[in-house]
Amino acid sequence: MAALVDRFGRSFPYLRLSLTEACNYRCSYCLPDGYRAGGRQRFLELDEIQRLVRAFARLGMSKIRLTGGEPSLRKDLVQVIAAVSAVPGIERVAITTNGCNLPRHVRAWREAGLTALNVSLDTLDRDRFHAITGHDRFDEVTEGVEMALGLGFDSVKLNAVLLRDRNDDELPAWFDFLRGRDVAIRFIELMRTGDNLAFFERHHLRAELLEGQLLDAGWTLRPRARDAGPAREYAHPGYRGRVGIIAPYSKDFCAGCNRLRVTARGDLRLCLFGDFGIALRPLLQSDGDQEALVARISTQLGLKAAGHGLFQGETGLTPHLASIGG
Ligand code: SAM
Repeated sequence: MAALVDRFGRSFPYLRLSLTEACNYRCSYCLPDGYRAGGRQRFLELDEIQRLVRAFARLGMSKIRLTGGEPSLRKDLVQVIAAVSAVPGIERVAITTNGCNLPRHVRAWREAGLTALNVSLDTLDRDRFHAITGHDRFDEVTEGVEMALGLGFDSVKLNAVLLRDRNDDELPAWFDFLRGRDVAIRFIELMRTGDNLAFFERHHLRAELLEGQLLDAGWTLRPRARDAGPAREYAHPGYRGRVGIIAPYSKDFCAGCNRLRVTARGDLRLCLFGDFGIALRPLLQSDGDQEALVARISTQLGLKAAGHGLFQGETGLTPHLASIGG
């Protein structure tokens, strides 16, 4: 079946599914005071996740990204990966993680069916890592990344949020890192959220600035794959690794949108910065509701807007990215 298509002709082969809102890091741009549990509702259970992914797969969705919060805090993560990858039609299962549990668990995730790994790593400097995340775990994360590189994943990518005066001078260090490693580092432009306005004003930097530096150093822009995410990816013949730029404030960012999101509480979110969510959880309680679930998802897709309102400072429902699944 063809992938879901919206009224602007964008197709959606890609679902980002949040497994939890909880996170053990205190990243200065996301949860500087740490995660505080709110409300009594529990996050989606394994059987609900299975029904959800089955419905999306029937609509042509072939790739699922597990995210959060920190998805590796889920005790049943191996079972979730195995269940999701067993759904007919799901070809790729990826995870976005802060990397703290990689050394202990990445092999089991791979064996359960995980095909791609994104690890957040904002800096290559241990002290800066500690300052940005609130945790002195740089060595574990980088050890985990090295392990993962030997496990035959389709892709291993690193995400760094670009921060003025915090990590905006590290391109040369990243070049050294990329010389012999088959890994992509993607610089994500800091996004303004409901909670981070003061931080955003101090540390936001346009990601395009890095692209000039890349071109000057002989890197070239690669053609965009059909189902690629929003990153513009650069390569260089002297390096095994690649550099991606994710610039949510750039003109055509939303035109290339190819993902939908479901929160850890089962709300469909059509846009990271949208101002409404659609409850799917009532339709995840029994296999008998699959038809209704498929219908609700396709009707709602008709309401997806052309773009986000970030330029106007509209951050929608999102207090921070951990709440929706960044
Ligand atoms: N805990 C996992 C992790 O650390 O990758 C997954 C969730 S985290 C919210 C997903 C990604 O969003 C991380 O790479 C994080 O750095 C990024 N992120 C969080 N807040 C952001 C913001 N305001 N602007 C840009 N990226 C942000």
